Amino acid sequence: MMNKIVILGGAESGVGAAVLAKKQGFDVFVSDMGLIKEKYKNLLNEHDIEWEEGKHTEEKILDAKEIIKSPGIPDTAPVVAKAIEKGIGIINELEFASRYTDAKLICITGSNGKTTTTSLIYHILKNAKYNVGLAGNIGRSLALQIAEGCTYDYYVIELSSFQLDNMYDFHANIAVLLNITPDHLDRYDYDMQKYTDSKMRILRNQDADDAFIYWADDPIVSSELKKYGIKARTCPFSILKKEGMIGYIADGTYNIETPTPFNMEQESLALYGKHNMYNSLAAGIASKLVGVSNENLRASLADFEGVEHRLERVATVNGIHYINDSKATNVDACWYALESMTTPTILIIGGKDKGNDYEAIRELVKQKCAGLVFLGADNTKLHQFFGSMNIPIADTNNMKDCVDACTKMAKTGYTVLLSPCCASFDLFKNMEDRGEQFKECVRNL
Ligand code: ADP
Repeated sequence: MMNKIVILGGAESGVGAAVLAKKQGFDVFVSDMGLIKEKYKNLLNEHDIEWEEGKHTEEKILDAKEIIKSPGIPDTAPVVAKAIEKGIGIINELEFASRYTDAKLICITGSNGKTTTTSLIYHILKNAKYNVGLAGNIGRSLALQIAEGCTYDYYVIELSSFQLDNMYDFHANIAVLLNITPDHLDRYDYDMQKYTDSKMRILRNQDADDAFIYWADDPIVSSELKKYGIKARTCPFSILKKEGMIGYIADGTYNIETPTPFNMEQESLALYGKHNMYNSLAAGIASKLVGVSNENLRASLADFEGVEHRLERVATVNGIHYINDSKATNVDACWYALESMTTPTILIIGGKDKGNDYEAIRELVKQKCAGLVFLGADNTKLHQFFGSMNIPIADTNNMKDCVDACTKMAKTGYTVLLSPCCASFDLFKNMEDRGEQFKECVRNL
């Protein structure tokens, strides 16, 4: 049917897209292979939108003019493969929503640091009294906000590679590319180039009035950029002062060169750790481009509280510091966490391994770790890799035992760091649950 839009996936983004599509006068049908949450069912019913759960009825899907697919559903799902074969356009919620707004879109992607940087930019713009919304992988559905009549001047949007995969005409006015390191390769045929191509899609449709902010020291990003004729204003940043950098750290000072110079003591930045210098530089450049004053930027970079489960300081108990970095679900994220440790560290590592190569953290583990506590349903691979390193090891499979084992190993002044390199699904509901349980156990010490 010419006027029919089918939505695959009935959660935050899918239901938001459904409501917006309905408001725009389309015939709308929502289909979810799993169960749809009560609050989303209510929202669909309120808007008189037909839906199904627990199945995909092909006759009701394959007659769509366009399909809006949740980023969680791979192209190999049978119904998606059939739609592709039939030539039905498949987009995602953000692509769809962006057709119905004139707001300026500030979009953040990368393998690590997206949520932190997105939240920081939002914090800065909001504190500076801009009329700004938050969307994408974080916050509420962009489509729903637009359907509800929000009239923000700016949206700060966190974009995953899965989301970028189904974007075509979407246009980021300010694009931020933080880094590209291996992640989610299971969804990209274990082909790093495919994952990289997907991230680079953030450049699509950018023109001379736009800005592209990127980490200049990332080897993959630098070599990829040579393949693209970039029309946007480019804003590279680095942790070192080098020619052409718009943002950099030098002699303990955080600097942004343009549109007007800005600097502040690195020590006054709220976020700590090298990776967070990158995030703070990217956020600072984006905010300056929007027009935030130096005074406002300085205040917001200094008072940002950080995001839960990302190098979050939990407590110091009997002189031992406990840090929750449950969101470190890949090796690169753990590398940065370890790198920022300033006292002997007991590292909690383990969970559902996504094909990790621990070689990248071998040196840092040697340098920084006074003990390792494995936390997983199956710790065999960890024993194989770290077993011969001459570092005390404890083996656990629940959070209480894990925190107790860490506390036993640690001495006054040590840090216990949960930065597990792995997904959490073997023992926990999700990474939030893992982080919450960690904090709860620490509070009970
Ligand atoms: P994302 O949304 O991309 O997953 P987060 O901000 O949630 O990123 O951070 C995920 C993990 O990566 C955390 O463990 C965090 O400490 C680490 N991290 C944050 N920023 C960076 C960065 N720029 N480079 C590498 N690791 C980072």
